[in-house]
Order: sequence, then C-alpha cells, then structure tokens
Amino acid sequence: MAYKIKDNCIACGACAESCPVQCINSGDIYVISPEECIDCGTCKSVCPVDAPEQQ
Ligand code: SF4
Ligand code: SF4
Repeated sequence: MAYKIKDNCIACGACAESCPVQCINSGDIYVISPEECIDCGTCKSVCPVDAPEQQ
C-alpha cells in the first residue's frame, strides 16, 4: 500500500527530494501519487513532523 501525507505537513520538501521514484508533488501540503509510490518508507524517515503514513 502507498504512503499518504497527513495534514500536519509543513511543506519543507525533504520527502520529495529523497523519494527514489519522485512521486511526491509540492503544494500547500505535499502529495504522494499512490500509483507510483513503491512503499519504501524513505519519506517517513526524513520527514521532520512524521507526516507520511502507510495506508
Ligand atoms: Fe516515495 Fe518511498 Fe515515500 Fe513512496 S514511500 S512516496 S516511494 S519515498
Ligand atoms: Fe511535508 Fe514531511 Fe514531506 Fe516535509 S518531509 S514536505 S513536512 S511530508
């Protein structure tokens, strides 16, 4: 299952920079494209506010 970014995202960009398949898009909060996410968990490990959550 893909990861999803919760509302507490502070839009720092760290996850998008570290995602190996570049499936995270910027915005008011960042958004993961669920079809492309390979469920690696990198975004969660780099996020300062623990916003990405496994679905
Ligand atoms: Fe990218 Fe991995 Fe996070 Fe999925 S779990 S959005 S592939 S860093
Ligand atoms: Fe949002 Fe966390 Fe990604 Fe930063 S690393 S943009 S706070 S989800």
